[in-house]
Amino acid sequence: MAVRKVLKYGEKSLREPSKEVHKVSRKITDLVQDLLDTLYAQNGVGLAAPQIGENLRVFVIDVSTNEEPLRPLVFINPKIIKKSGAIVTEEGCLSFPEAYANVKRYKNVMVKATDIHGRSFVMEAKDGCLLARAIQHENDHLDGILFIDHSANRFETEAVLEKHNLPPIEPERLISEPDIDAELEKEKSND
Ligand code: ZN
Repeated sequence: MAVRKVLKYGEKSLREPSKEVHKVSRKITDLVQDLLDTLYAQNGVGLAAPQIGENLRVFVIDVSTNEEPLRPLVFINPKIIKKSGAIVTEEGCLSFPEAYANVKRYKNVMVKATDIHGRSFVMEAKDGCLLARAIQHENDHLDGILFIDHSANRFETEAVLEKHNLPPIEPERLISEPDIDAELEKEKSND
């Protein structure tokens, strides 16, 4: 298949909600292959279909970070069915070249999705591991949400975007996460 162009922050598809996949057709398996080819070409951890201009609910993740053996994971019509805990970590995104920002995420997630063979599966990722964070990051892409919307510090992120000549934060898009904030407070007081 093919390495596709990754859309950069500011391009419209990244902010559009994606459509459910009704059947894992040839079109979808080709799309998945393009996503994986593009992910590996860019040394990424995850890539969602809207990032290559296809607003369909599909993303791929590989946390082996280009070390053999590759371990591609394919998520079609994913749904996060459980989430808990909280963590602040630095994230990047192939649509934001070279720009990294601290974001708030859940520590643990359980996701239900369909695989490349059209079979349903459930996966759990815990303790704020790379997979747990990548699932949340990629899943957001399917709803037009970007990692900067979860910024732990809006002003810090703004400075990073400016430095990389990327469009500024849209303040109305910042996500309020009282449950994550409460968890983070709890952990702070436990220290
Ligand atoms: Zn991303």
